[in-house]
Amino acid sequence: MQEDGARPAHPAEREPDMRRILVTGGAGFLGSHLCDRLLADGACVICLDNFDTGRHANLARLLGNVHFTLVEHDIRLPLALGGLDEIYNLASPASPPRYQSDPTGTLTTNVLGAMNMLELAARCGARILQASTSEVYGDPEVHPQSEAYWGHVNPVGPRACYDEGKRAAETLFADHRRQFGTRVRIARIFNTYGPRMRPDDGRVISNLVTQALAGGEMTIHGDGRQTRSFCYVDDLVEALVRLMATPDDITGPVNLGNPDEIAIADLALRIRELAGDRARLVFRDAPQDDPRRRRPDIALARDLLGWTPGVALDDGLRRTIAHFQSELVR
Ligand code: NAD
Ligand code: UDP
Repeated sequence: MQEDGARPAHPAEREPDMRRILVTGGAGFLGSHLCDRLLADGACVICLDNFDTGRHANLARLLGNVHFTLVEHDIRLPLALGGLDEIYNLASPASPPRYQSDPTGTLTTNVLGAMNMLELAARCGARILQASTSEVYGDPEVHPQSEAYWGHVNPVGPRACYDEGKRAAETLFADHRRQFGTRVRIARIFNTYGPRMRPDDGRVISNLVTQALAGGEMTIHGDGRQTRSFCYVDDLVEALVRLMATPDDITGPVNLGNPDEIAIADLALRIRELAGDRARLVFRDAPQDDPRRRRPDIALARDLLGWTPGVALDDGLRRTIAHFQSELVR
């Protein structure tokens, strides 16, 4: 970890009317796309990351931009920054094998990190958006999941470091607003995919795409009948930006995701077909507490944000496969 109160070496230059935005976890998959979008919108962006799962390559094209600054820092430590208008708090591993490889680190990143970023937001009077997750619903007993559902999480299982960390972070966000008037927003993000996921990330789409391109075995956990609903990254980033822009009385939580639900075995078949039909499907033991099904009810996001996802699964998969193809030949 870096020293308390880390300061950026090159504070991003900004014109007086530019918004100054902090993106924690900005070197990761979602964070790097969000940095691109915010810079394109004319903001001045400070990306904070400890490179646990993030990659310098995700930011390479931004390093020469005078409105972009990279700060290497761990959000479990306080951060001495001022003059922020907005904070997107994305710092946390998100892939089950990654977050389970350092469970106490995952829990403390989500809890201490949220507290540090809330205090920073309160000091600056900034808006702060929490990247929460559909995992707060655990292995849901209600389908599809709406924000009114309180969830079904095993608090001592292998997924709890992430699920309970995110649940505790939501509580901190809600309480910080009630106690101190902090300008919070909570996004419950459902499975999102796209270019810049790490080939070794461990989540299902990056695994299946790299395996399909390699032409070997595509690993399906359990019987493959469990479902997820996959959202393309550009759609998700649009929703995050819209949620941040809402008036302060709209705090969420708001589900953000694509309601197009698919069984994992069917997903594997779609990916295999799109990637050249060379690999074969193999079935492995299901991990403990693997949720059986998941689909967001996005009525609230539609109403509040005027948002619905626009990229169909096949289109998103084609773009993702093309990205992995180019990365694997590099
Ligand atoms: P990712 O692993 O690609 O990115 C996470 C980033 O956070 C990485 O760059 C990592 O280095 C950084 N990080 C981790 N711990 C940190 C710490 N202590 N201090 C500073 N930086 C730290 O994952 P992602 O898919 O881009 O997810 C981003 C956020 O969105 C996470 O908070 C995740 O929980 C949330 N989310 C993602 C999805 C999804 O499907 N992609 C779904 C729900 C929620
Ligand atoms: N999964 C799979 N093969 C893999 C990786 C994951 O069948 O190589 C399954 C996993 O067990 C789960 C689903 O795909 O049922 C989604 O897993 P992922 O890790 O992407 O996300 P999460 O479980 O957090 O929704």
